Amino acid sequence: MMAVRLVIGLGLTILTLVFAGRRVWWLYTLIRSGQPTGGRTADVGARLRTQLVEVFGQRRLLRWTIPGLAHFFTFWGFVVLITVYIEAYGVLFDEQFAIPLIGHSPVLGFLQDFIALAVLASIITFAVMRVRQAPERRQRASRFYGSHTGGAWLILFMIFNVIWTLFLFRGTEVNNGTFPYRSGAFASDGAAALLAPLGAGTNQILETVGLLLHIGVMLAFLIIVLYSKHLHIFIAPINVAAKRMPKALGPLLPMESGGKEIDFEDPGEDDVFGRGKIEDFTWKGMLDFATCTECGRCQSQCPAWNTGKPLSPKLVIMDLRDHLFAKAPYLIGDQAVPDHSDVDVLALAAGNGHHVPESGFGRVPGSGPEQATRPLVGTAETGGVIDPDVLWSCTTCGACVEQCPVDIEHVDHIVDMRRYQVMIEAEFPTELGTLFRNLENKGNPWGQNQSARMDWAKGLDFKVPQLTDETLPADVEYLFWIGCAGAYDDNAKRTVRATAELLHIAGVNYVVLGDGETCNGDPARRSGNEFLFQMLAQQNVEVLNMAFEGREPGRRKIVTTCPHCFNTLGREYPQLDGHYEVVHHTQLLNQLVRDKRLVPVPAADGPAVTYHDPCYLGRHNEVYSPPRELVGASGAQLTEMPRHGDRSMCCGAGGARMWMEERIGKRVNLDRVDEAIATGTSAIATGCPFCRVMLTDGLTTREAEGTAANQTEVLDVAQLLLTSVKRSAPTPPIGSE
Ligand code: SF4
Ligand code: SF4
Repeated sequence: MMAVRLVIGLGLTILTLVFAGRRVWWLYTLIRSGQPTGGRTADVGARLRTQLVEVFGQRRLLRWTIPGLAHFFTFWGFVVLITVYIEAYGVLFDEQFAIPLIGHSPVLGFLQDFIALAVLASIITFAVMRVRQAPERRQRASRFYGSHTGGAWLILFMIFNVIWTLFLFRGTEVNNGTFPYRSGAFASDGAAALLAPLGAGTNQILETVGLLLHIGVMLAFLIIVLYSKHLHIFIAPINVAAKRMPKALGPLLPMESGGKEIDFEDPGEDDVFGRGKIEDFTWKGMLDFATCTECGRCQSQCPAWNTGKPLSPKLVIMDLRDHLFAKAPYLIGDQAVPDHSDVDVLALAAGNGHHVPESGFGRVPGSGPEQATRPLVGTAETGGVIDPDVLWSCTTCGACVEQCPVDIEHVDHIVDMRRYQVMIEAEFPTELGTLFRNLENKGNPWGQNQSARMDWAKGLDFKVPQLTDETLPADVEYLFWIGCAGAYDDNAKRTVRATAELLHIAGVNYVVLGDGETCNGDPARRSGNEFLFQMLAQQNVEVLNMAFEGREPGRRKIVTTCPHCFNTLGREYPQLDGHYEVVHHTQLLNQLVRDKRLVPVPAADGPAVTYHDPCYLGRHNEVYSPPRELVGASGAQLTEMPRHGDRSMCCGAGGARMWMEERIGKRVNLDRVDEAIATGTSAIATGCPFCRVMLTDGLTTREAEGTAANQTEVLDVAQLLLTSVKRSAPTPPIGSE
């Protein structure tokens, strides 16, 4: 019997390792074929901590409590049950085998049995979740819509097989006197009690059967994992280790070609601008595609997907992966890419199981040449992997990146593809042409005159200090960056006026640049026009560096009411050698309240207010508390919307979507306004001029339809604060500390 065990067990293992090794090598070579990229190994200490917290602590997964706990136990099941496999292989050679030193410990025996049962409970939980979330029934509302559900069920079945074979093997070991644990392994003892009545001979045979099945299931599992989306079991820790630190939100990365930053003043002849082919992605991008678990957390949070657009961040990643894998023979082999321009890709997509026609058009599964030869971006007619409607629906809100448990960098990939479309193909929504022209010629998206930049300050009963020299006077603490919306949009003007008043009351010494400001470049950059971004950013950095000339770090302070300016000036301008300490006005105002330089007097019956988190303040820069504290300080009663904080719903303006028509599905701003109206509050507070425009538009539409109370208003947090500060009497003397 021992010889049979040994030959079958080792034979199967060697055969499996050969197949597994070939696949691992193929994957390694394919991902290595991606473009080089730097900065993925810097700060080893922080990366190790992330590995501990995200991989071993499963922090991101645990944000969703029930599936998180189920995954936590499944993950730790894989870790702890390695010890059972060590025992299983040991028993192939010696039926009395025990792991040296710890092999008879009742603690280990208990732990193995406990975790095996926890895994069993977890896969039952997963199964219930999958039934409740069945895409066939729930359609787009299911986070698994478009995922390979058959493969997921197979994996659950394989895990179940691991568990029952484990107890068959261990239970018979107990009965045959070969089990290494005298106590602790409570569930194995229970299995033994069930198997004992079968008799000694049968238990002898069943021990060998259980052992070989246990090993065989694991080997089959290994092959299935390596050839399926469950590849993430092995590569997710690598992807997390190579993630953008601290996360792939906030600033966009500088454009690189061949691993080197592109010099926009003198670009190299061979430089590739953005991603026009799958092989233009970096190895990290390719690793992202291979790592996706198809869990659909990103899809469930995506404002585009949730309002009926064709974009799902999950399907973008899955489509890129299918295409990458199909193109692999041409990328890492000697084969030339065949011409399949005459192939009807749509016909191939039709009827191919559970494809997603809403995702531009049906996904083309499989890995044949017809998949490999598709253009990266293209309409249904051209058979593109990513439909232009998918590419341009993204608001860069970051909800996908925030939720992804394996740190996939969706926003970077989408913007990189936009970059190629804009700068090389000149293919973009027509409305963006107007935006680009206005930015280039007038320095603002509205195409307004530069001379009108200070109009917002007209009528204030104090003079707004404006920079007259090139350099800030020594006693000035803050440069108040107004931004284009603050300068030209009527609603946003109210925000900057309120902020200026508050700074004035608090005696903050600040100046504004007036017509020295130009658009920070955010809409150009996020729509893929990096040339234009570089031009605008260079111009601003020159002005700002001159303004802060001679000031040491810590005294180069900027305050702004716009989260896009906040993000771009503070976190993107360092890429162009512009280093400033930028704060959002809600942060500064909150500090002024704490320092008692502003004294809000709450109304006796404060209004009910809900707060909308701007994506570029919240998720991209993690400023959640200061605006909420200000709402509280003003005396308003805060009622949160169901989607708030890091799961807040976008207003629909980011990623230059503010400047594009929204032709497909429900308008994102209406979806958000409906949620705000449902809270029953009388005001929607926010901290972003673009959110304010979108929410005001949405509210106006709903009021016209009669579905919103006419008294509901959209306000900036600064206005709430100003009202409550003005209740205090007397007003603190100007300039008081
Ligand atoms: S950034 Fe926002 S809109 Fe874009 S894919 Fe991710 S979740 Fe969707
Ligand atoms: S959240 Fe991440 S792993 Fe899950 S489907 Fe989206 S991209 Fe894939």
